[in-house]
Parts: sequence; C-alpha cells; structure tokens
Amino acid sequence: MLERYFQPESLMMTHGYKPELSEGAIKCPIFQTSTFVFKNAEEGKAFFQVAYGKREKEPNEELGLIYSRLNNPDLQILEERLCLWDKADECAVFESGMSAISTVMLEFLRPGDMMLYSMPVYGGTDHFINKVLPQYNIQGVGFTSDQTTEEILDHIQSLGLSDKVKMVYVETPANPTNALFDLSVCRIVADRLSYGEKEVVVCVDNTYMGPLWQNPLQLGVDLVVYSATKYIGGHSDLIAGAVLGKTKYMKRVRTLRTFLGNMAGPWTGWLLMRSLETLKVRMTQQAKNALEVADFLKNHPKVEKVYYLGHLQEGDPQYIIFKKQHTCAGAMLSFDIKGGEKEAFLFLNNLKLIKLAVSLGSTESLAEHPATMTHLDVSEEDRKRLGISERLVRLSIGVEHYSDIIWDISQALDKV
Ligand SMILES: *Cc1c(COP(=O)(O)O)cnc(C)c1O
Repeated sequence: MLERYFQPESLMMTHGYKPELSEGAIKCPIFQTSTFVFKNAEEGKAFFQVAYGKREKEPNEELGLIYSRLNNPDLQILEERLCLWDKADECAVFESGMSAISTVMLEFLRPGDMMLYSMPVYGGTDHFINKVLPQYNIQGVGFTSDQTTEEILDHIQSLGLSDKVKMVYVETPANPTNALFDLSVCRIVADRLSYGEKEVVVCVDNTYMGPLWQNPLQLGVDLVVYSATKYIGGHSDLIAGAVLGKTKYMKRVRTLRTFLGNMAGPWTGWLLMRSLETLKVRMTQQAKNALEVADFLKNHPKVEKVYYLGHLQEGDPQYIIFKKQHTCAGAMLSFDIKGGEKEAFLFLNNLKLIKLAVSLGSTESLAEHPATMTHLDVSEEDRKRLGISERLVRLSIGVEHYSDIIWDISQALDKV
C-alpha cells in the first residue's frame, strides 16, 4: 500500500486520538479527572515501573494512565500534535510559557553555572535570569544580534567564565524590534564551550514565530520553548506553554515537570487542541495582513521607521539570516512614530478596532508601547542600545480584514 506523509495541518483534527476509546466521540473529550482506574494490581505495577524509569517501555506499549500530574489524554494527544509542526521527538505542555522556560533553566543549570542569553528577551524571562537565578548562584551574560561568534566567545573568556557556561538561550526574532539572531552562531558558540562530559545546550524561545514560520530544531538547536498563550492558543483566552526537543532532553524536562507539578490542566489541553485545528489558517491570514499593514506604514508621513522582517533588503546581513531561518515574515511588527511618547500615546488612545493590550499572536489585532509597558523593566541604557525608544509602537496583527486594520491605523495617525 502506498504510504502518504500528511502535512501537519491535515492531522490536527485526528492525530493521536482513538474514538473507540471514547464511545466513538469524534472529538477528544475533556478528561476532567485527577486519577485513572487500573484494571488490576499487576497493571498498576507495570504502569508505575515505566513512569518511574524502573524499566523501558515494550516496543508497542503505550504509557499507562496513572494520575493527571504525570499524564492525561488531553495533554498527551496535544503533545503528539505539537511535535508534528517542529518535527520534535517529544513535547511537554506547561501551565504557562514562563513555567516552560523556568523549568528548562532549572533542569539544565546548577549553582555555579552560567548561561548566555540573547538581548532583549521577554520581560518575564529577563526577570527570571537576572533576579531569580542569581539567588541560586546561576549567572546570565547577555549578547546582542550584532556580535560575532568570536566577539561572544572573547567576552566570556575575558570574564573567566568559559568553563561555567551550560546553556545558550535565544529569542529570535527579538521582541519588539524583530532583530534576528543567527542560530548557527549560537550552535557554534555552544559547541566551542562544550568538552568531555560538559554539554552546552541551545534553547530557543520560538513564540514570536510560532511553530509555522521557524523550526529551530531543524536548524541544530536542542530545545524549543513556547508561550502557547500566543499563536498556538491564538484566541487570547488561555495561558499555557510548551517545550519540545529530543527524547534525551525531554525526559529530564518531563521529570522535573512531574515534580514541580506545573503541567497544564485537561481543560487548557482541550482548548489548545481546538486551537491547533486552525493554527495554519489563522497564522497564514495574520501574516498576509501584516504585509499589507507594513507596506501602508512604510509610506506614511507620520511614521519614521518600520521594523518588519518582510522589508529586509538583500545585502543586509539580517536578510541572510531571515532567508536561512524563516519561511515567512510573520505577523509582528513595530514602528517609530514621528515625535515621542506623547505622539505614540495619542496614536494608541485613538485606535477604535485594534485593542490596546500586551500579548500577541491572537485573532484580534493588538497594539502597545514597549518602552512604558512590556519593556519598562529594561534599563534605560539597554533600551537605547536595543532601539526601544519612546517613539516605538508594537503591533500584533490579527485575522480581521486588512483594510479595516489599515483604516484604524490611518485614522489614529491622523489624530496625532
Ligand atoms: C508571552 C511570552 C512569554 C511568557 O509566556 P506566558 O504564557 O505569558 O507565561 C515568553 N516568551 C515570549 C517571547 C512571550 O511573548
């Protein structure tokens, strides 16, 4: 029989779910249950042996259901579906993006270790790296997208920290300016700092591009984290996170999740499965709309500069990274309005359709002011260096008709 490789979007409605185990229901029910009944004591023993790593699974054995902190059908099926987009061996879903990120850091870093991280990173991640981890004697050192491999390595060497690096953590494109980091540079830096037993893992926060437009596991990184609150959830109605990667790393992540107890609940798992059915159509439309909006802004007399990946020009080193790492320019953009905070606020306060809110990747378009909102905690010096000025406005483009989004932006700019 001819085998066919189905595209992920063709499998989002059915993959991993067996109707015969749920009274024939076409949709996976919400398994709102804390615990699962064993057929007999022998089965309970067999399930626990696998769960606690006392024996490996038999070739065709499925992980037995024990207790919802360890596994639950809604999470398990969701995790299998998420694996398809990133071509990952395994996935673990968390109750938030921050719990996914903090669990990965706690699993791969120990007191005395150091991590290299791209700047700027998401505010919560920045806080965890710079305010929480130092209390456990774990240090973070930042690097920017314009630094070369040698510059990053020289800097670490000059600090006398080369032996301590255990993780390279990258967020690309950077929020809110869309600055791109070359993942092959991150890989080389990690490999140059690895020796013997000491392995430096590379972890990418892929939230900004969702699982559709950039697949870091295919570009040589070890782990991918998501705030599933954003594109994966996509409807501004839940908080969740995910980690994906090779089995050898995911076993460790999953075990720590079991004992921190920060897995997502069945209801969130079910909502995310529903969201995944439309992931491709939503994101595709959002990206189309973003292109129209970016082109409109580029030619507007009240706009100084637009930060949009689709406007990168050949010859720009950023363009080369874009072509290498992305299949699409995405649906996040930002722009410098002429003037300062006053003009930016006038624009934001006059929007009628686009909502003034943080977060991103949802069906509705959102606008915010990074310098006084999402990036308020970034030091003034770093804000300057990273281009997060008082003039900067960030937009997350939704699925509305693009002409309505543009009309709204246009009328709000007229009031400035
Ligand atoms: C929102 C976000 C997070 C945090 O995710 P939560 O689901 O809010 O915990 C992490 N990284 C990026 C890039 C984000 O946008």
